[in-house]
Amino acid sequence: MHQKLLKSAHYIELGSYQYWPVLVPRGIRLYTYEQIPVFLKDNPYITDGYRAYLPSRLCLKSLFILSNESVNIWSHLLGFFLFFTLGIYDMTSVLPSASASREDFVICSICLFCFQVCMLCSVGYHLFCCHRSEKTSRRWMALDYAGISIGILGCYVSGVFYAFYCNNYWRQIYLITVLAMILAVFFAQIHPSYLTQQWHRLRSVIFCSVSGYGVIPTIHWVWLNGGVSASIVQEFAPRVIVMYLIAAVAFLFYISKVPERYFPGQLNYLGSSHQVWHILAVLMLYWWHQSTVYIMQYRHSKPCPDYITHL
Ligand SMILES: [Zn+2]
Repeated sequence: MHQKLLKSAHYIELGSYQYWPVLVPRGIRLYTYEQIPVFLKDNPYITDGYRAYLPSRLCLKSLFILSNESVNIWSHLLGFFLFFTLGIYDMTSVLPSASASREDFVICSICLFCFQVCMLCSVGYHLFCCHRSEKTSRRWMALDYAGISIGILGCYVSGVFYAFYCNNYWRQIYLITVLAMILAVFFAQIHPSYLTQQWHRLRSVIFCSVSGYGVIPTIHWVWLNGGVSASIVQEFAPRVIVMYLIAAVAFLFYISKVPERYFPGQLNYLGSSHQVWHILAVLMLYWWHQSTVYIMQYRHSKPCPDYITHL
């Protein structure tokens, strides 16, 4: 028995000197950066702790071992449970106490559903990227990107719905344009070159454009409400700014590969840029959900002025 355990022990490096034995199930072993297939080589500063060449069953089983993807997987799995729980809490307590309409329930459900799909797609990718088939791994990657678009869609739908609560015309215009934009991103993903390394920069540009587009309805909303001195703008605009700040910081970590760039091989398991990106993504969606509930309650406490409703 003891011999068997020793056989399956894999020594991982945490920090610069400490080596910790990690027990991995039979069939799974961890590889160094040099040993993994080319399609998994994305971050040379993560030098060890890779799972690779696994069938689906062992990919799933690897949920319970410590690898360099563990924090990535679990951060968004817990994120999924957070938004699931928030959904139940909203439906049973927050919305009924705010005397919410059927529309409020629908928008809140769409928003949280999108966030949950976003989280699950990410979990799926980080769990199955080590699949022995490159094609399967790429499919999960495409799903991860699709999940990010769905998460952004959830933010837009709820944001536009409440920002233009008293202006049906612009509400519809922005909802349609946002939907068209997200659909266009979906179709771009079908392009065979979309997920290649060469298109890496273009993917970032598309991602930033889709997120940055929100500045246009935001400025329009400030103007429609009578400028920065309006009470609703004073209350809600800082929340939009904080949202964009979190998104910008998260994206900077994502593209720069900081801090592991400065400590190659020392942040393989904990503290790498992708883990920071994941945690900030959960924080950002949570912040947006809280802001949406806040503006919904504001809208119910201060009904639309008549002269705007019919515009
Ligand atoms: Zn990820």
